[in-house]
Order: sequence, then C-alpha cells, then structure tokens
Amino acid sequence: MDIIRAVDPDIADSMDRELARQQGSLELIASENIVSPAVMAAQGSIMTNKYAEGYPAKRYYGGCEFVDEAENLALARARELFGAVYANVQPHSGSQANMACYFGLLEPGDRILGMDLSHGGHLTHGSPVNFSGRLYDFSHYGVARETGRIDYDALQKQAEEVRPRMIVAGASAYPRILDFERFATIAASVDAFLMVDMAHIAGLVAAGLHPSPIPHATVVTSTTHKTLRGPRGGLILARDDKAAVFNKQIFPGIQGGPLMHVIAAKAVAFKEALADDFTAYQGRVVENAVAMAGALMDEGLNLVSGGTDNHLMLVDLTNTGITGKEAEAVLGQAGITVNKNTIPFETRSPFVTSGIRIGTAALTTRGMGVNEMKTIASWIAACVKNPSDAVKAEAVRKEVATLTARFPLFQY
Ligand code: PLP
Repeated sequence: MDIIRAVDPDIADSMDRELARQQGSLELIASENIVSPAVMAAQGSIMTNKYAEGYPAKRYYGGCEFVDEAENLALARARELFGAVYANVQPHSGSQANMACYFGLLEPGDRILGMDLSHGGHLTHGSPVNFSGRLYDFSHYGVARETGRIDYDALQKQAEEVRPRMIVAGASAYPRILDFERFATIAASVDAFLMVDMAHIAGLVAAGLHPSPIPHATVVTSTTHKTLRGPRGGLILARDDKAAVFNKQIFPGIQGGPLMHVIAAKAVAFKEALADDFTAYQGRVVENAVAMAGALMDEGLNLVSGGTDNHLMLVDLTNTGITGKEAEAVLGQAGITVNKNTIPFETRSPFVTSGIRIGTAALTTRGMGVNEMKTIASWIAACVKNPSDAVKAEAVRKEVATLTARFPLFQY
C-alpha cells in the first residue's frame, strides 16, 4: 500500500476506503468472495509484464519459458480439480469463455435454448442487450410458477418445439441443484450441444457438493472468482480433447495476449481448491446458506423455491411491500451488501425488481458460521420490514460493525 501511496495517493485513498468498506460490511453478494493473500499476490506480480500470445510451447513471443510453466500448472490443476481432459485457462472473464464456446460450436443466427434472465439465467445466455442475444436466435426456459424449480418435462417439450442447436444450462440466481444428466438427455434427444455454464457453483462442483457437469456436457464454462475463490477470470473445460477447437476461438478468435498474472493466480487458487480444507469450506458455505434461508423464512420472508441447495437464495419481497431496489438501499445503510434481483415472473423493471439475491461464500471465507447467519437474517428481516426506520438501520449498522470486527479480513 505504501508503494502505491508514494506514486498515487488518490488511488491509495480509494483502496483504503474500499478496504474499510470490505472490512466493516457484510458481503452477501452471491457472486463475490475473498481471495487468499497468495492469490492476490500472484495477481499483483511481475507476471503482468509478459506478453505470451498463443499457448504453452506455441507462443508468438520469446521469453515465455516460465509463463509456460505457470500456464501448464494452471491447466493440469484445473483438469485434476474437475476431472476434465481439456482445459483452457486464458478467458479473461466468464463472458469471454461463453463467447468462445458459442463461436466454436455455432454459426450466427443458430438457435439456442437458455435460461431466462429473470428466472436466474445470465446476460450471456441470450439477453437482447448482450452479444449473445444479438448474434443468436435465443429461446428461453424458466422455472415453474408453483415450485420455483426447473420443470424438466416442460423443458423437454420446449426443446422438441424449438429444435435448438444448443441448450445452455447454468444460472446466476438459481438456488437448486441442476440436473445435468437430464439436461444432457434432453439435448441428445433433439441433437443439440449441451453447454453448461457453472460459474456460480464451480466451487461446490470442485468439492463434490454439486453434481459435476463434466461427464454430461459438450463443453463447460466457468468464472474463477465466485465460489471457486480465485482471481477474476474465466475457464473452459471438457471431458474430451475434441474441445481443443475452443483454443483458437479464445486466441486468436476473441482475445490477444493472455493475462499471465491472472493465470498464475488461477494456478494458485486451483492448488488451494485441491486441498482438503477447501472441501470443508464449501460444506460450510452450503450449511450457512441453508441456515440463512431457514432463518429468513422463519422471519416470514418468502424465498423462491422455498429454500436453497447451494450457496445462494433469492428473496421474493412481493409480500413485504418494498422493492428490491429499496431493500438493497436500506440494507446498504445498515452495512449489509446485497443486490436487487429480478424474480421469476417479475413484474418490475431490472432497475427496481421484486427480489434480492443473497449468497454466503464471502462471509464463510471470513469464518462466520450458522449462528452468525441466523443473527444476520434477523437484521435483514428487521431492515426489510422497517425500510424507512433510519434509527433501526443505524442500530443494525452498529451491530454489523461489532460482528465484522470479530471476523477481520486478512491484512495486506
Ligand atoms: N455466467 C454466469 C452464470 C454468471 O453468473 C456470470 C457472472 O456473474 C458470468 C457468466 C459472467 O462472468 P464475467 O462477469 O466474468 O464475465
């Protein structure tokens, strides 16, 4: 920090304030986590200086022998972690991993069946404002109104009607186990590729706490920074080497030089994820989510699908009289960070929404457990039920400060 301050006090100040925000608030955004000091150090290392267009042993630049070592380690660890034959660790983001897979398997205009954004899908699964929705002919499936879960029989029927070239499984806000075997059967029955985007649940899959998509999917994409707890970035995996076709879609297809400092940090994160304590950590993430979900429902809040099997839950605020936007704001005042989120069959705009999404990966990394989740759930309920009570929000904020001081982030 001192090094940055000496050169650029403005950025050092922003970083100080951001550190204080992270230390002093409860991070419940389901797509976030807190990386280890080793992952962060690798990302902020001399590896950032190196250009390495191409792949290990086939680069367009000299001097790549040591970044080759790092990329080969990242690849071997990714394959081991997920039981995959093929891996590509170069995607700069989850979105770019998805783009490379669409480009590798499809032609512009091809039909794809993906999950609706408001039912839990991601922008890159066919939103009209995203490249995916602009380049491909997307149809969308969702969850059943009564259960909040994917209805696989309905999906089978829809696939037969739509006849897509590809089915995309995976979500940003789906709290239940995804049945990848069933997805594969449906895709095979209409002769479609199956792409699984496991960005949110990758850590659970690595730990064996969610069924793996690898045996079932044509190709699997992920981010590395959510439950997987690595640096921000993307990843492509597959069960066989036919997937080598995706290499040229990443480079030279849509990216130039790989971010070797991020790839080194991915290697470190995968090593951490291969250790026994990572499995225990993921177990606590799920245990905490189940405890939080139960406590929120005990407070009278509705959860889409009535609970969770993974690291996240979606609170349907319709019966509370406040919107997702208002809930996000009042919780923010109290030091609790969540994001407003559309819910299935949403009637409000994405800027307002009727829900909030809550995830437990980051607080679990800080060492919090079931008791803390129950306490935090009571604070969330108090704020959501009294959205204009500034005194209440301030009282919760003080409690949050005491709790966060007991579970510090590491120092850097
Ligand atoms: N896929 C899913 C399911 C996601 O939830 C996300 C990010 O939230 C992405 C892809 C995109 O990842 P990135 O933000 O790294 O582009």
